[in-house]
Amino acid sequence: MHKKLIKKLEQLLGKERVLQEEALLHAYAFDGSPEKPRLPGVVVIPENHDQVRQVVSFCAQEGLALIVRGAGTNLSGGTIPVRENTVVLLTVKLNRILEINPQDLYARVEPGVITLDFARAVSKEGLFYPPDPGSQAVSTLGGNVAENAGGLRGLKYGVTKDYVLALKFIDGLGEEIKAGARTVKWVSGYNLPGLLTGSEGQLGVITEITFKLIPPPKSSQAILVLFNSLQRAAESVSLIIAQKIIPCTLEFLDKFTLKAVEEFRQIGLPTSAQAILLIEVDGHPEQVKEESELILKICQKQQGEVFVARDEEEKNKLWQARRDALPALARLKPTTILEDATVPRSKITEMVLSIEKIAQKYGLDIGTFGHAGDGNLHPTILTDKRDKREAQKVEKAIEEIFNKALELEGTLSGEHGIGLSKKRFLVQETGLATLNYFRRIKKAADPKNILNPGKVVE
Ligand SMILES: Cc1cc2nc3c(=O)[nH]c(=O)nc-3n(C[C@H](O)[C@H](O)[C@H](O)COP(=O)(O)OP(=O)(O)OC[C@H]3O[C@@H](n4cnc5c(N)ncnc54)[C@H](O)[C@@H]3O)c2cc1C
Repeated sequence: MHKKLIKKLEQLLGKERVLQEEALLHAYAFDGSPEKPRLPGVVVIPENHDQVRQVVSFCAQEGLALIVRGAGTNLSGGTIPVRENTVVLLTVKLNRILEINPQDLYARVEPGVITLDFARAVSKEGLFYPPDPGSQAVSTLGGNVAENAGGLRGLKYGVTKDYVLALKFIDGLGEEIKAGARTVKWVSGYNLPGLLTGSEGQLGVITEITFKLIPPPKSSQAILVLFNSLQRAAESVSLIIAQKIIPCTLEFLDKFTLKAVEEFRQIGLPTSAQAILLIEVDGHPEQVKEESELILKICQKQQGEVFVARDEEEKNKLWQARRDALPALARLKPTTILEDATVPRSKITEMVLSIEKIAQKYGLDIGTFGHAGDGNLHPTILTDKRDKREAQKVEKAIEEIFNKALELEGTLSGEHGIGLSKKRFLVQETGLATLNYFRRIKKAADPKNILNPGKVVE
């Protein structure tokens, strides 16, 4: 990047808050996706809202692309620079929990706070922040809002968007926008917090978030069910929901994933099963008891072998197994492509069986796990992108998975966003009129097209 531009950024933020050495820039050239890494022009580390505003204004003035980066764990290429001389803005220093209000049940935070740190701080006050992406130990709340992250508790408690009450953000011209309120109800104008949530850094740079909090459940019960048929496991998901039971978590792991997790962690998971369900119900103790019993009955009728966690330690072991699914699979081959095609819950069996067929058709290693209760599966393709012949097969398999999800009236992405990786498929789901509407919104929020350009829509 041109020395004059760097100097100006150093004047705005201080020299130590501007990284320009190539060796350092490499650390910000990639994210959690398999997209090709690309070096940013410079990395800046503002410490407060005002410095963020100055950086955005500077980029708007100079026409420089700006990418906000939390922990860089997104799985859709959302933080990969596309243009030359991109400024990457790290939120690592914007990491203060500003307020936890137990009377009005909300909290205000800066965007760089780590998700798990926030959940723990809230829990210390006797409150509950449910969204728990698998990456919560490292992901940031700003990244969660910008991706509308889900998690294991999405089925009962919803996803990030269900907790965002208000936002402060900077638009593409450097203007400060305040959206929403800390009240339970709010209809004073357009629902801008809703618009910004899931906007993947394209409509504004979020500098403060107000989250709704709720009281924690009084008790919970974790259940593991082993199935010797993939189909019966998937069918059980629909049967449980059809009984009007909404577990807080209802996760699915296929045989391939199960084996990878057991090899990785060695916690004694039976690798002979074709698939497992990990289920947790929570709420009032009486309700937990009643729902657990009903779930056991349904799963046993489906020929599942049922284990009930006896204590907190056993429960934590089960959830660790689920959280290990992606890292365990990722160890097996050089390239991991994690998809998150999502279907209506009643179509989960058809989707699971179709993924299996697609894997066989192309001779690919695909481990499937995910939030089956939400219809949100993660078919994970393990490959080596240097193998050009296999790469072509992977492309075709991904296309077939997406087509199947859309045919079943599902969606391309349940929680990982579009970014770079799914951009070319988006029109298939939305149609051209909707895509053009997105484009007009982007143009209004960011007339100079500096905010995360080249992603989602152009
Ligand atoms: C092992 C693993 C497990 C995962 N499990 C889940 C899961 O269960 N559920 C799920 O939903 N996702 C999951 N993810 C994906 C990822 O963790 C989430 O998308 C997460 O929300 C990204 O947070 P981040 O801080 O890493 O954001 P980044 O990757 O840094 O950024 C993500 C996007 O948000 C934008 N952004 C970041 N901060 C701001 C801000 N302040 N203002 C405006 N835009 C901003 C960025 O520009 C980018 O477009 C997982 C990822 C991994 C690696």
